[in-house]
Amino acid sequence: MSTHAWINLAYLVAAMLFIVAFKLMTGPRTATRGNFLGAAGMAIALAAACFEQPVTESLAAHGAWPLVLLGIAAVIGSAIGGVMAVKYPMTGMPQMVALLNGFGGAASALVAGAELWNMTASAAHGDATRAALAHGELAPWTQFIIATALTGLIGAVTFWGSLVAFAKLEELPRFKKAWTDPVRHWVNLGLAGLTAALGIGLCVFPASNLLFWALVIAASALGCTLTLPIGGADMPVVICLLNSYSGLAAAAAGFVIDNSVLVIAGSLVGASGLILTAIMCQAMNRSLVGVLFGGLGTTTAANADDVYAGKVKSASAEEIAMVLEGAQRVVIVPGYGLAVAQAQHAVRELASALEKRGATVEYAIHPVAGRMPGHMNVLLAEADIPYEKLREMDDINPTFPETDVAIVVGANDVVNPAARTDPKSPIAGMPILDVDKARTVVVVKRSLSPGFAGIPNPLFAADNTLMYFADGKKAILDLTAALEKG
Ligand code: NDP
Repeated sequence: MSTHAWINLAYLVAAMLFIVAFKLMTGPRTATRGNFLGAAGMAIALAAACFEQPVTESLAAHGAWPLVLLGIAAVIGSAIGGVMAVKYPMTGMPQMVALLNGFGGAASALVAGAELWNMTASAAHGDATRAALAHGELAPWTQFIIATALTGLIGAVTFWGSLVAFAKLEELPRFKKAWTDPVRHWVNLGLAGLTAALGIGLCVFPASNLLFWALVIAASALGCTLTLPIGGADMPVVICLLNSYSGLAAAAAGFVIDNSVLVIAGSLVGASGLILTAIMCQAMNRSLVGVLFGGLGTTTAANADDVYAGKVKSASAEEIAMVLEGAQRVVIVPGYGLAVAQAQHAVRELASALEKRGATVEYAIHPVAGRMPGHMNVLLAEADIPYEKLREMDDINPTFPETDVAIVVGANDVVNPAARTDPKSPIAGMPILDVDKARTVVVVKRSLSPGFAGIPNPLFAADNTLMYFADGKKAILDLTAALEKG
């Protein structure tokens, strides 16, 4: 078998591993195995790529240097990735995902830029095939130049859009507020027109490095101006969309360097990101166009004083334990604050104490609770809470009227009834967990501060709500102790 056939066989194996990995990553039990298989597929693809003709030609011309450089880059990249994975707290995962999406986009754009430069340089040095390609005289030219333009465009939008998303999720002061000036639509339209013109220009004129980098700069600006207006509860959708863009950029880069496994891997990421985007839009009852151009933040939220003044009831651990003693059915609602407090193990102990007293305990999972899709599932799985006790929003919502106590731990936006009742609220229409319909609601948080969407929550002032103001972990440990004492 020829080297080319071996390489293709290796790519096929890698692609199959990616597909199986994706399948395994759909369930928390099999996700770790899926991750390992995906990484193994990537290692096979990387090893096979080292035998591709341009690499072997380069090795023949420059000795082992290209491989040494590749090794150094891989070691530096792995070290940075390893440190980030260990150091970054669970609550910072969405920011990390945003960064990784961005780096994927940047890498694709750089590969396209390097390949274009390589091609024009080789043509200038008399390489006949490349010269013919560069002058559009060979069939693959069309594929090459369109793919190069698309990679530069999508890669740059992804990189800068992801950096802005990172800054927003990290809640950096300058990025906290969404850019809602109506002029943004014209700026976006202008930049979109400019990138389209530069992209077409790149396809029409013989390989121009200048046009390519101009396109990358315009697309970088577009990435920022497209993401800056998005804020509040719409962030998760943007993260999924940028994830999809990073896949599309990689797939386009696969066409640039004619690498089938990159096309397959990129398409898988692109398609799965789009599916996740659609699921998230559905979970938040928003259209994608509405998220991208709707200008969230133009709506107004109620004043916190009007919502809370004189209506909030704070309770002690002993008072809440007395309510829990008589409860038959308890639903625990985790939110972002549970992740901050790392209260997952404490929550499991409280559930065990309640179950020992004969109560049924379930967990209500909102699709966008926390700061990334699946955030709550991952946290609760870490505390060995059985999967069958985690119930999705649509499944558990009809059971709240028969629930004696709903315990909300560090969740805010996802239980805010204003989404149902206030059409002017920034989260109007977002499906929420109907905890307000439970007989008693216990809300554990440190203060009356708002959640991610920055709006007051009428649940905290409801007649059937008891507030327990404390750090999530300490509060749940106190409740368990009071319950066991009683
Ligand atoms: P929220 O951000 O709405 O609220 C979290 C609450 O946790 C805060 O009100 C805070 O109140 C409380 N909290 C913080 N730290 C602690 C602690 N140590 N102990 C106890 N409580 C604490 O979270 P939700 O999960 O309800 O909603 C998620 C929000 O994030 C939604 O708006 C969603 O759209 C958005 N989002 C979701 C993403 C996803 O993919 N899931 C990604 C990005 C954003 P206090 O300070 O008073 O304690």
